[in-house]
Amino acid sequence: MKQFWSPSSVNKNKAMVENLQNHGIVTSDEVAKAMEAVDRGVFVPDRSSAYVDSPLSIGYNVTISAPHMHAMCLQLLENHLKPGMRVLDVGSGTGYLTACFAVMVGSEGRAIGVEHVPELVASSVKNIEASGASSLLKEGSLAVHVGDGRQGWAEFAPYDAIHVGAAAPEIPEALIDQLKPGGRLVIPVGNIFQDLQVVDKNSDGSVSIKSETSVRYVPLTSREAQLRGD
Ligand code: SAH
Repeated sequence: MKQFWSPSSVNKNKAMVENLQNHGIVTSDEVAKAMEAVDRGVFVPDRSSAYVDSPLSIGYNVTISAPHMHAMCLQLLENHLKPGMRVLDVGSGTGYLTACFAVMVGSEGRAIGVEHVPELVASSVKNIEASGASSLLKEGSLAVHVGDGRQGWAEFAPYDAIHVGAAAPEIPEALIDQLKPGGRLVIPVGNIFQDLQVVDKNSDGSVSIKSETSVRYVPLTSREAQLRGD
């Protein structure tokens, strides 16, 4: 069939962000701008389903989260993602959210992804290179590392914001240690029944924890257990 044009993926990405705004999930301009700058279509294996509000398989027994979950986490962390701040993304998978974080903290900030499947780290770097965050990767304010994210990433600690993209049976101590006083950790906690928990570190080093909503994430586990599909 003859076709004069088809909607560009940039327009579809913008429409996805507008949907998230219309549903009251994206409420701030900063989050909207970051999601507009980072085309989700570049990060998923099948571009045609990139803008649907659903998680998608990315291989290795894991999924990229649905757009509304990414948006919710960006909103919860917004005040800790100001230009110049430092953010750690544990279980960075496709690199999508790490790229959004990097855009928000900018070239004076630092966004670090940690992911334990080396093949996903390699493909996430390619994804980021094709995205609106490519210059941040090139200049080094955005980086993705292979590692066990339960240990955090001590090199650039303490962090203003830490996000965990997989459900932990309990909050890893290292992540609380690597949080700055005044910083915020967003992490799904639980096994079958999971809560998205928001952990704020107070100025005296104590933490306040609240549950935001029930969620369903893949487990934060060892690479061996994940690849076995436990
Ligand atoms: N937030 C990402 C990926 C979510 S899936 C996205 O939306 O694209 C969760 C990711 O956590 C998977 O890529 C999985 O490989 C990774 N993961 C699970 N346990 C981990 C661990 N202990 N250390 C590092 N990464 C882990």
